[in-house]
Amino acid sequence: MKRTILCLALCASIAMPADLPTLRGFSADSSKTEHDWEAKFRTMPDPAAMRAYMQRLSARPHHVGSPYDKENAEWILSKFKEWGLDAKIETFDVLFPTPKERALEMVEPAHFTAKILEPAVAADPTSNQKEEQLPTYNAYSIDGEVTAPVVYVNFGIPEDYDQLERLGISVKGAIVLARYGNSWRGIKPKVAAEHGAVGCLIYSDPHDDGYAPGDIFPAGPMRPPDGVQRGSVMDMPVYPGDPLTPGIGAVPGAKRLALSEVTTLTKIPVMPISYGDAQPMLAALRGPVAPAAWRGGLPITYHVGPGPAKVHLKLKFNWDTKPLYDVIARIPGSTYADEWIIRGNHHDGWVNGASDPISGQIAMLEEAHAMGTLLKQGWKPKRTILFCAWDGEEPGLLGSTEWAETHADELLQKGAVYINSDGNGRGFLGAEGSHTLEKFVNTVAREVDDPEVKMSVAQRLQLGRSIVPGRGQAPVAESGGQSSGSRAEFPLGALGSGSDYSVFLDHLGIASLNLGFGGEDREGIYHSIYDDFYWYTHFADTDFVYARALAQTAGIAVMRLADSELLPFDFDNFTATIRRYITEVERLATEERTRIIERNRQIDEGAFTAANDPRFPTVPPAKETVPPFLSFAPLQNALAALERTAQAYDQALAHASENGASALARAQLRDANARLIAVERSLTSKEGLPNRTWYKHEIYAPGFYTGYGVKTLPAVRESIEQKEWKQADEAIAHVGKVIENAGEAIQGATAELARATK
Ligand SMILES: [Zn+2]
Repeated sequence: MKRTILCLALCASIAMPADLPTLRGFSADSSKTEHDWEAKFRTMPDPAAMRAYMQRLSARPHHVGSPYDKENAEWILSKFKEWGLDAKIETFDVLFPTPKERALEMVEPAHFTAKILEPAVAADPTSNQKEEQLPTYNAYSIDGEVTAPVVYVNFGIPEDYDQLERLGISVKGAIVLARYGNSWRGIKPKVAAEHGAVGCLIYSDPHDDGYAPGDIFPAGPMRPPDGVQRGSVMDMPVYPGDPLTPGIGAVPGAKRLALSEVTTLTKIPVMPISYGDAQPMLAALRGPVAPAAWRGGLPITYHVGPGPAKVHLKLKFNWDTKPLYDVIARIPGSTYADEWIIRGNHHDGWVNGASDPISGQIAMLEEAHAMGTLLKQGWKPKRTILFCAWDGEEPGLLGSTEWAETHADELLQKGAVYINSDGNGRGFLGAEGSHTLEKFVNTVAREVDDPEVKMSVAQRLQLGRSIVPGRGQAPVAESGGQSSGSRAEFPLGALGSGSDYSVFLDHLGIASLNLGFGGEDREGIYHSIYDDFYWYTHFADTDFVYARALAQTAGIAVMRLADSELLPFDFDNFTATIRRYITEVERLATEERTRIIERNRQIDEGAFTAANDPRFPTVPPAKETVPPFLSFAPLQNALAALERTAQAYDQALAHASENGASALARAQLRDANARLIAVERSLTSKEGLPNRTWYKHEIYAPGFYTGYGVKTLPAVRESIEQKEWKQADEAIAHVGKVIENAGEAIQGATAELARATK
């Protein structure tokens, strides 16, 4: 503990470079004042305090509807109030199913009853809280009882089914056994059902987060044989939030769908299992040996099936409505009170949830604590700041979605930026979000020290990511990890889904960021009873210095956004990013065309017949229609216009800054700021994405068949991927128009800025 306090003092003293540049969006004077307040803030987040918050918040299971979930909300409320913030709890009533009956047994060729139970571990004092723990299950699976042969489908993503087809294997009438990974879990039962499966089991293979990558709990951080990943399988790429109230808040009296009308439940029963329970079933499969890339870490030969392993799966749920408790604290703005900077992190867990989500929640709480202190010292943020401790993230982003849908009109007017975090760990800064904030995030991260390596978190990310691939980047994100701006900056990944920013960015078009540290922890306790205080303080950010780094990064971002005279959006990196996305979808269309032509030629020439092993025959693929050429001119033309407007904005800002150091301080910038806020809104369209109208953002969306993974220019990219050529043509025209609108929105901001700072 002493070491921590010493480091706190040292780290705080080296954070400030000697001569500080004027911050974007600030006049010279206000920039200096800002640096002073931020320097004070930077010393405040206290690892010992955050450790204590975690111990309190993860002491008992705190899932939606549990007694401790409510107690935690009340405790967070009392903390906000103790720190001098105006705070309240907002409640919503949502559909949250919990298990009533779960049974899984193998009935052929031998009998085996699955345990579906995570045992307590003697060393881990909260792992034995059986009465309050939710059993292992997937929320929003339908009820069902099926007996069927098993087929192993690897990750259960669309490509795996192409491979099964080549092997001549159908999952029609079968129960698929998929392993976790490579997609959001809800995709697995969705694709299985589309292929005719009648049930779905999802297990954690030891190759991925069990004994292969590290020692298992409690000797190490990885998943023990009976550990199970709970989780939601709601069809969130269609819409997240309460299934009964799509698009509106789940408040008393809201018009609710009947359960039978809900489109986001699974089509087949689905249950998660451990590798202890999966092994006997996998071992009893015959049929072809699984392709090399499909083999996991169990000491067996992986076969695909179908059968002879046959299992009986029975699931029944309580389809109850449960209350959500969102805790919302507010710091009113002094000048632009109607512009909101919103900071959020969820507080509900699947069980004790120390890593997910409390490790992020404690950082946000300590930011609120520090800002409460700064207010008493005279700090006056210009914009209104909201701290939001969300409930119900785990089942389907329920608390954030219902709150934002309830306050949608006000948020559309006032929401300037949303900053999210979730679980936090050791290592590199992970930063994803709206590319209008890419430069901004870089400037913030340059002023936060990495707690373990002596450089700024920005520098560590920028330098380290080329050496340690995959580190310090968003989890596998298409278009996510490459640089768009100058080499002096690290790139911002694009946001897919998987946490509470979705409603703000995807539905309302509020510029958003997701921040967190990670990449150095190995973790095999995700969504299990072992994600608790004991695990976290033995294997994760054990001295809470990365919790401090997160509080510093997110806190400085919030303060700087709230204090600036002009919101520090930038359209230069944004435009470069859009250019890259357009190049990507053009290349995708060309490659898809070339691939199909080449494949058809191979089929015609008999390449597959020649390559076939007659003893282990495979089925040749069917010929496909060669896609038409697509014209990307509407995107290219819109991009050219966007580039011109981005330059014009930069010139106007440079001019305003030259016009005497105080031009920004003197000017009336209310209208310019309003126009700037409107730029992200202009990237949305009323009609939303094809087949999922809740998603309004035309630049970023979670993939329809990847879930968490982002699809940029989603309407265009997914039409090409799904070979919907006519729809692709329409999408290109439509997205071209959206990018044109963004150019006009930037032009509006430029004109306002020039007028105000003449
Ligand atoms: Zn979480």
